[in-house]
Amino acid sequence: MPEFFKSLDTKSVRAGEPSPRVGGAIVTPIFQTAMFERGDETGYDAIPYIRLNNTPNQIAVAAKLRSLENAEAAVVTASGMAAISTALLTFLSAGDHLLVQDCLYGGTHYLVTDDFAAFGIEFDFVDGTDPGSWADKLRDNTKVMYLETMSNPVLRVPDVKAAAEFARSNGLVSMIDNTFASPINFRPCEVGIDLSLHSATKYLNGHSDIVAGACVGKADLIDKITHRLNHLGGSLDPHAAFLLERGMKTLALRVDRQNSNALFLARTLERNPAVASVSYPGLESHPRYDLARDLFDGFGGMISFELVGGVEAAERFMERARLPINTVSLGGVETVVTRPAITTHSAMDREDRDRLGISDGLLRLSTGIESIEELIEDFKQALN
Ligand SMILES: *Cc1c(COP(=O)(O)O)cnc(C)c1O
Repeated sequence: MPEFFKSLDTKSVRAGEPSPRVGGAIVTPIFQTAMFERGDETGYDAIPYIRLNNTPNQIAVAAKLRSLENAEAAVVTASGMAAISTALLTFLSAGDHLLVQDCLYGGTHYLVTDDFAAFGIEFDFVDGTDPGSWADKLRDNTKVMYLETMSNPVLRVPDVKAAAEFARSNGLVSMIDNTFASPINFRPCEVGIDLSLHSATKYLNGHSDIVAGACVGKADLIDKITHRLNHLGGSLDPHAAFLLERGMKTLALRVDRQNSNALFLARTLERNPAVASVSYPGLESHPRYDLARDLFDGFGGMISFELVGGVEAAERFMERARLPINTVSLGGVETVVTRPAITTHSAMDREDRDRLGISDGLLRLSTGIESIEELIEDFKQALN
């Protein structure tokens, strides 16, 4: 059936709702039941059960996300890391090899570097911005290529189209963590990426009150992931799914506002003499600005920046700023700030941090939906 809802605004609100409506309910009710009366389903995966990822709240969220990313299928998971680990462990087994971007979300970095050896899975880091270097790392047993749309925390943008083509021509499954962009700014399957992964904890839910994740992409691949997820057990609870569905109804509105607030803040920071450098893909000074403009509809809410005074100035900024809350998560309606070297990336070797440009004084900002005038005023007084 062709898609009836066309724009991202309309899809955010309406796509995926149960049809016919359950008892006429406008909002998908919370199906707080672990068991369902047995019907005519055949096979283990079809038994209606929360862990088997086939219950009404899980289906409604997955259908909305599938529609938003213009993809064939989706499945929701208990966390972003459940989505990432399950997707990787669906297409990688003992003896396989992974090509993975060298600048990753902390949890994914630790999964690959700490845990994969025990599973017999090998990996090589690649520079996502240098497609010419990828073929050298390719092996006969390479099965997956893994990227992030905007790397955390320095916001590098890899050559996504080149990666999709490289994976296709070498028989690899291509995966991208699209958390930072959200479907409003970028839909990876539209440029030929096989699987888009999300921490729904962040922009998709947007209200900093649940942990959830999702895998979106080709139907046959999502079927395989769901089968593995059914065994591994990282399934989303119905109440969290209900909150996520509610959060996603305002996704387009929130992300549009976060895009514009972040662009304005990034430009303001760049002009402030107390600021040494700003990394935001929407700034002309960003090394991947042209690529970001080609790929994205908006540049997202994440900014990282360094102050002239280094660590000391960064700490002073966090103390003095009243609006940005000092915390590690991101993507919510509130503006938050963290210093990755002592939080999200503290377990990474200093050598790795230096190589990736994560200095001790680097600050990572997640822009919320507050008034831009008040944000600017607060930043100015805190930097003064
Ligand atoms: C938060 C985050 C994750 C992990 O998600 P959880 O929901 O915390 O498990 C993965 N990737 C990125 C880019 C994230 O920001």
